[in-house]
Amino acid sequence: MISTEDLMEKLVNDGFVQLPNANSYDEFLNTIAEYTGRNQVDEEYFIQDFHLNDVLVFLQSTQFHNYAPYKNGSLFLQDKASCFPTHLLSPPPHSVVFDTCAAPGNKTLHLAAYMQNQGKVYAVDKDPKRYNYMKEVVELAQGSGVVSTILSDIFDIKMADYTDVEYVLVDPSCSGTGITERAKIDNNASISAGRIRNLAGFQRDLLSRVCTYFTHVKRIVYCTCSVREEENEQVVEDIMVKHGDCWEVEDLTHHPALVGWKHFGSEKYAHGRRCFYALPSDYCTGFFAAVLTRKYDSSGKNS
Ligand code: SAM
Repeated sequence: MISTEDLMEKLVNDGFVQLPNANSYDEFLNTIAEYTGRNQVDEEYFIQDFHLNDVLVFLQSTQFHNYAPYKNGSLFLQDKASCFPTHLLSPPPHSVVFDTCAAPGNKTLHLAAYMQNQGKVYAVDKDPKRYNYMKEVVELAQGSGVVSTILSDIFDIKMADYTDVEYVLVDPSCSGTGITERAKIDNNASISAGRIRNLAGFQRDLLSRVCTYFTHVKRIVYCTCSVREEENEQVVEDIMVKHGDCWEVEDLTHHPALVGWKHFGSEKYAHGRRCFYALPSDYCTGFFAAVLTRKYDSSGKNS
């Protein structure tokens, strides 16, 4: 696994142009326009993201399919929105993480990299095709075997047996309405209320089990690429009604990775405003995330 700094150095050595840090994508695009205006050359540009320091931002037109660091798993292509869950979960090196719906493994590998490939990430998925793909990608990318893949329905996993797990990612199947093209379909109301209800039921059951059975977990990130409140704020609200004595929703409006961020959840819900949204106006696909932290009693023990 290569560090972000070493990757940036490699990119520059390979002919990419690293532009000075920008505070917005508009600034990034303006700098490119100035630069190309002066130099009249066809070059590839990147910046280090101004929210997430292990994310590099490229123009959408940049081609990677023949680029060695992409082919050997050192460089992963992912929408910026999907990079937030790792930073919100923020497991330090040597911690133990459980990724409940992990395939194709993008967030799993981001978590492993964030932990500097030290510790353990359990990565579960029930879909054999997606699982096999994840296994291949994990084998390609990781050096030290920090990720342990498990082909299983998450509801068949005995969560209480994983007493070493401290951090859990819940990134369940969802309506995908945050992905731009699908949002258009959604606006045409072609996703049925019944389908949303079923998905929300699954999401709520899974999150509830995680809150109940992973007894040593201190932080959970729940995320979807949906922009439907039923799958997002409503699920969090239902969980708080059931588990509010042990868990609280972290207020992400003050999170260090989100300085200057504009979009949070709906105030219609008691905890909505504490949750994160990414939208196309953030140069991201639509995405939702909430962080649940375990409450501690005055003796410092789990409540
Ligand atoms: N976290 C993944 C990533 O970043 O690459 C994306 C996960 S995708 C949104 C949801 C995944 O949940 C799918 O791969 C699906 O197969 C898996 N899934 C759905 N129901 C499941 C279940 N009951 N048990 C385990 N995995 C499940």
